[in-house]
Amino acid sequence: MVNMLKKFEEKALRGEGLSPEEGREFARIPTEGIFEILPHTDRIRRHFKGMEVNLCSIVNAKSGLCGEDCSFCAQSARYDSKVDTYTMVPAERIVSSALEARGRGAREFSIVTSGTKVARRDDVAILTEALRSMKEKTDLERCASLGILDRGTLRELKDAGLESYHHNLETSRSFFPSICTTHDYEEDVETVRTAKEMGFYVCSGGIFGLGESWEDRVELATTLRELDVDSVPINFLNPRPGTPLEGPVRLTPRECLKIIALFRFMLPEKDIIVCGGREVNLRGLQPLIFAAGANGMMVGNYLTTKGRNPEEDIEMLKDLGLSPRA
Ligand code: SF4
Repeated sequence: MVNMLKKFEEKALRGEGLSPEEGREFARIPTEGIFEILPHTDRIRRHFKGMEVNLCSIVNAKSGLCGEDCSFCAQSARYDSKVDTYTMVPAERIVSSALEARGRGAREFSIVTSGTKVARRDDVAILTEALRSMKEKTDLERCASLGILDRGTLRELKDAGLESYHHNLETSRSFFPSICTTHDYEEDVETVRTAKEMGFYVCSGGIFGLGESWEDRVELATTLRELDVDSVPINFLNPRPGTPLEGPVRLTPRECLKIIALFRFMLPEKDIIVCGGREVNLRGLQPLIFAAGANGMMVGNYLTTKGRNPEEDIEMLKDLGLSPRA
């Protein structure tokens, strides 16, 4: 294992991600071996990303009422998950959330909406107004996660100041039909591809702990690499009551670290951001996400669940000798 990890590290430091076969070899390392993996992924992260960390925050601008059936998601209208539901909030509310996030040290701010896509013209008008106002009032990087969008809508948002587009593939192409039956994986891939072609900084990753195998994790990393996404958000399932995946958390903290490490080895130069489910899945091992290869994390609240106090996160970074990206 020692030689294999050394060989993988050298390859990653050259900017070449592991091949799918090498990814599968890595996946066979027992999770108990995580503490032998971390020095390698820590060096790769420091080589490409230094000691700065990306902090991003989100606002849930439209909540629940979604017609899709993603089995992990409390925002699907098909499940009795008791989340707050509301249609698009006014532009001023989005902008005030952005200003609050900036105050807590966030560098990137994403407007997130539930649903397959933003289709109503009124909603697009709110979003363009919010983006213009954010551009005027803050130096935040402007990101949005609005579902499966066409080129025309993406163009309007770009003209209003949108810089990054977020759209998760969630899991592998092979496993996707087990978690969502209401749309096709290729529609997600096409959205990512279009956003990339249009020059957005593209953020696309997944959620883990759905019952997927290591083979699926390697497959997802391979697809994201083929799409040349810029940033990979890693979410861990925080099982929500009322959804088909409710129940106890399914991952151990060390397995979560190994997932992060796999993505750092396979996409060595990309941003890897740990997002939802961090607190309940990693528990006391949260500070190790950076040694595992992450160079960013989401701070503040998530879409339907509370995050921990952002001051604790800032203190954790200081203790680790890391600092928020300037
Ligand atoms: S993940 Fe998105 S598309 Fe799927 S149910 Fe939730 S809000 Fe709807």
